Amino acid sequence: MVVRMRHTRAHTANRRSHHALVAPRTSKCECGAMRSSHRACATCGKYRGRVVIDVVAKQARKAKKAKAKATPDSK
Ligand SMILES: [Zn+2]
Repeated sequence: MVVRMRHTRAHTANRRSHHALVAPRTSKCECGAMRSSHRACATCGKYRGRVVIDVVAKQARKAKKAKAKATPDSK
């Protein structure tokens, strides 16, 4: 870095004043679990009172994938 590009600590601090992390917005699902706003619930698979994700099937797929990964030689 050349001297021309150097700037003051205040300038750096001013830029970094916008870098703070914010906690994700969550709301309570009708099933009782906390879920992020504008996303389907990961626990019951519902969005706006309607089931949009088959949670049981998703769990089965995940288990199958994990099993395949555990035994790589069987394919
Ligand atoms: Zn839910």
